[in-house]
Amino acid sequence: IDFGFQHVPREEKQTLVGQVFASVAPSYDIMNDLMSGGMHRLWKDRLVEKLRPRPGQCHLDVAGGTGDVAFRVLDAMRTGQYGAPAGGLGSTVGGGSFASSSSTGSSSTAAAAAGAAAGAGAPASAQLPPVTVCDINAAMLAEGRKKAEARGAGPESMQWVEGNAEALPFEAGTFDSYTIAFGIRNVTDRAAALREAHRALRPGGRFLCLEFSKVVVPGMQQLYDLYSFNVIPQIGRVVANDAASYQYLVESIRMFPDQESWSRMIEEAGFRGVDYENLTFGVVAIHSGFKL
Ligand code: SAM
Repeated sequence: IDFGFQHVPREEKQTLVGQVFASVAPSYDIMNDLMSGGMHRLWKDRLVEKLRPRPGQCHLDVAGGTGDVAFRVLDAMRTGQYGAPAGGLGSTVGGGSFASSSSTGSSSTAAAAAGAAAGAGAPASAQLPPVTVCDINAAMLAEGRKKAEARGAGPESMQWVEGNAEALPFEAGTFDSYTIAFGIRNVTDRAAALREAHRALRPGGRFLCLEFSKVVVPGMQQLYDLYSFNVIPQIGRVVANDAASYQYLVESIRMFPDQESWSRMIEEAGFRGVDYENLTFGVVAIHSGFKL
């Protein structure tokens, strides 16, 4: 079986990836902790630290899954830990399209809502909630919504939109910032996803991507391979009764471009000031860029 899904037709890869995430959704959070020894929390904290979300900012988290990054962004905005509202970052951005406050529907529902709002000449004051989570998988979003309810984060603070990173159901220039964490490697057409990120951002907007990358310390790679190819699928088998999905996750990490190649792709999509930071010896990297 080609767990990297690189040699299967495009639609089929998307379906297979969909099946993987539908299957792992209920155990996703606990598996993240087990597989990374809790490190994913620190990596996500660092992502949000780099983003420095401020009240009034309008943020999009793509492939947001169960909302791990989105909740951090919202908390940082609420506590104002990175400062007061930014001058350039208004709460009403680019005539933004608030697709649906409780969007439970499909990507086409969200797109239709956005289109209808635009077509009806939505008032310039039409407001988006501070954080929008977009993911292709309804099961992951459902887990996220449950968490949001438990935290009292209603539609005035967050919206959950089913949609594809390759064809985002939002108007151009809607968001001040965009994050994608451990999501881009699952996307079939990454160049299209980058172009969409660029389109959805307003000029001056920030793009940040947290993703597994290439270990940069000699000797570490073998250790890391040993761990990921042997231990992770076993944890998947024992805890989630699903070794195959976790085997896929490991394979997809290996297939992903290295830090420099990924930087070039981000630049090719039109982003400027592109750089990256390695975390944990390059096990993951955060890439950053701006839409000018
Ligand atoms: N960002 C979350 C986190 O860090 O916990 C979730 C990451 S999870 C490993 C990957 C997510 O990417 C899944 O929720 C999956 O449904 C989503 N995904 C895969 N392909 C996608 C696509 N083309 N568009 C949007 N989301 C996608």
